[in-house]
Amino acid sequence: MKLFDVYPINDINIVKGLGSYVWDDKGIEYLDMYGGHAVISIGHTHPHWVKKIEDQLEKIAFYSNSIKIPLQQELADKLGKVSGKNNYQLFLCNSGAEANENALKLASFHNGRKKIIAFTKSFHGRTSLAVSATDNPSIVAPVNETENVAFLPFNDEDALKKYFEKNGNEICAVIVEGIQGVGGIRVASKTFLQLVRNVCNQYGAVFIADEVQCGYGRTGTFYSQDQADVEADIYSMAKGMGNGFPIGAISISPAIAAKHFMLGTTFGGNHLACAAAIAVLEVMEKENILKNADETGNYLLNEIAKIPSLENVRGKGLMIGFDVPSELQELRANLLKRHKIFTGYAKPNVIRLLPSLALDKKDADKFLNALREEVNFLLSEKQNIPASVNA
Ligand code: PMP
Repeated sequence: MKLFDVYPINDINIVKGLGSYVWDDKGIEYLDMYGGHAVISIGHTHPHWVKKIEDQLEKIAFYSNSIKIPLQQELADKLGKVSGKNNYQLFLCNSGAEANENALKLASFHNGRKKIIAFTKSFHGRTSLAVSATDNPSIVAPVNETENVAFLPFNDEDALKKYFEKNGNEICAVIVEGIQGVGGIRVASKTFLQLVRNVCNQYGAVFIADEVQCGYGRTGTFYSQDQADVEADIYSMAKGMGNGFPIGAISISPAIAAKHFMLGTTFGGNHLACAAAIAVLEVMEKENILKNADETGNYLLNEIAKIPSLENVRGKGLMIGFDVPSELQELRANLLKRHKIFTGYAKPNVIRLLPSLALDKKDADKFLNALREEVNFLLSEKQNIPASVNA
């Protein structure tokens, strides 16, 4: 039987990973600046994470949520401590889409309203409500189209204010990424996020921060929203939470936690997933991962911005994007083919960097050298002049 071709990108078969590196079945080593799409938080196969999962697997992997699972409380306590929000309640599930699905549903249970505000170029997942709030027509099936979702222009304070002035009492929730990921690393401004907070307070709407890609330490603070000094009512998270082990969650503020019990899922919060997620938080604390994301991220941002021809270098921490002009359109493919470096992509011409949050300076330099060399090579090729190595 032939497997459905899920990702017909290339035929590289990754069989091993360690830290910021992965290897294919031929033994070729790649620097992973994509982090498996922002999933790798503490590094591939971190030994503490492996050990914790192995130990748990030998005891028990799963038992139903109908009984008490102390590991869930341990995870909740640790997450409260590391995120600085220890009065929030945790609901555990299995993916980012499921987290947003439940966040939106909980918001509606909470205030009884239906109207969701999302933003242009948003991505919140592929399940029913999550995809309805996603501004990507190619993945929205006719059955997911709904008048309950309005898309407003991202970062447009006027449009948001006006919409709320007119329809404020009908609005159930605003869902926003602190930095849009799939949309192309678009950073929400601090004042925009503060306005979201204010209008939600004023009109009784729920502020949902989708931290699935931009959260969990990726921007150098635990939640990207922390940098705008706002507190969301619900934070959704997934990707980095398990470092590759599937787990998602929403963290719910005390004001709306009462209807938490309306949510449920069979596999969410299973023993094995909790063990993986606890291991991630332990390593984050012990190895100062957030500080590293901040410092290495700043270093990368500053250095990339110095490279001529790359445009609009932007982002925070280890969530970085830049535009590639048409004369360098082979850049991403060449980084993979010639330099064995994985990067991410967003339409139409954005390279996205989402490496392990433990990426060290040596590997950041390795990437920067390859990037400088490749930009120089492509430019000189176009102009038919010999490439100088240090341009
Ligand atoms: N929200 C955001 C911001 C995302 O980037 C993604 C995944 N790319 C999702 C939600 C959906 O997560 P998952 O694929 O785990 O369902």
